Amino acid sequence: MLNAKKEGIIICDIAELFLGPIHKYEPVYANEKPDALVIKDGKIESIGETTRIFADYSRNDYDIINCNSRKIVCSGFVDSHTHLVFAGNRSHELSMKIKGKSYLEIAKAGGGINYTVKETRNASEEELSRLAIQRLDQMLLHGTTTIEAKTGYGLTPESEMKLLKVINELNNKHPIDIIPTFLGCHIKPEDFTGNNWDYVELMIQLLPEIKRLNMANFVDIWVDYGAFSIEESTAFLTAAKENGFDLRIHADEMENVGAAIMAASMGAVSADHLLKAEAISASAMADADVVANLLPGTPFVLMSNNYANFPMFRDAGVTVALSTDFNPNCYILNMQTVIALGSFMMKMLPKEALKAATYGGAKSLKIEKEVGSLDLGMNADITIFDVPSIDSLVYQFDRNHVSDVIKDGNIVVKNKEIVKNTK
Ligand SMILES: [Zn+2]
Repeated sequence: MLNAKKEGIIICDIAELFLGPIHKYEPVYANEKPDALVIKDGKIESIGETTRIFADYSRNDYDIINCNSRKIVCSGFVDSHTHLVFAGNRSHELSMKIKGKSYLEIAKAGGGINYTVKETRNASEEELSRLAIQRLDQMLLHGTTTIEAKTGYGLTPESEMKLLKVINELNNKHPIDIIPTFLGCHIKPEDFTGNNWDYVELMIQLLPEIKRLNMANFVDIWVDYGAFSIEESTAFLTAAKENGFDLRIHADEMENVGAAIMAASMGAVSADHLLKAEAISASAMADADVVANLLPGTPFVLMSNNYANFPMFRDAGVTVALSTDFNPNCYILNMQTVIALGSFMMKMLPKEALKAATYGGAKSLKIEKEVGSLDLGMNADITIFDVPSIDSLVYQFDRNHVSDVIKDGNIVVKNKEIVKNTK
């Protein structure tokens, strides 16, 4: 039959196949080295050696992606910490930072987070959506198939609800799956007249409506010197739990204020940043199964040498995620850059970094049973890189190596171009 619809996709002759933590796939014979995947109905149907796969499946019935033993394959990246939606360009602040201007001086000159808040409040939903789609396209071209996206640049009830609406609508408009987080307690905005407690109370009042409309999976708060205290955060997170939200926390970035230990005691899913966290925080997080979401782009743009202590978290038995922290002060959309920073600045082996950028991110979003590894029955979210080994992916850190991306079993990026831009 001419133009018969294919049954699915087979990726074969893979130079290095990174499956991630798997439980269902078992080698058919000893020493099997899987280098092929069968994708059917949006899921991974079979894993094995190319010759065995083609003994079981007919080449004619499938679209074939042949890696010719020179491309590697892994799960699509899960970028589990992004501030995707905002308006306003802050590129001019870079020169100020290089000349030694402090955060406070930049803020006084009209820059910093309050500038982003002003621009975001003034932007229409259409404009915010248009900007976000440009960013999502770049993420997809660089191999990301699922992200988390936070609010936090509105900081009034109306504008925070506007951002949640934009994020939820984006999820229907773009192939990347977007998991929304309410970060109304990012920081108290400069035009708010009350104190931190008044502001936290205002944000608590929004929680039942956000839950009723099912507009966010997670609630987040920045717990730090200059942001919210442990006491204020405990009140906010307790209310969030009572309203049925899962918790993630901006923790111990600037100072060790005990936020990681609070994350463990509150049962948070993820504690993020952790630049100042210590061994006692890591062991509390391991006991409570809190993911350490490490964001090495942040110290890089802060021109700091203080990176999170990856070996400490690994040795304590904590699951580690790697994410971009994409925001107006940390303009990274490419998870390959984050993996390189993880390896070069935090002593992560390339495979450890890759696992953190896929499985770790998925676990921090409670979706590790669907995405983040390439086991049988998992969603077929797959990235193909034009490098011959995982080591090469990090070693050659200067460019985008993604050639093809598959999302839910559909080819969305082919030969470095987006070929499907909707769900
Ligand atoms: Zn953040």
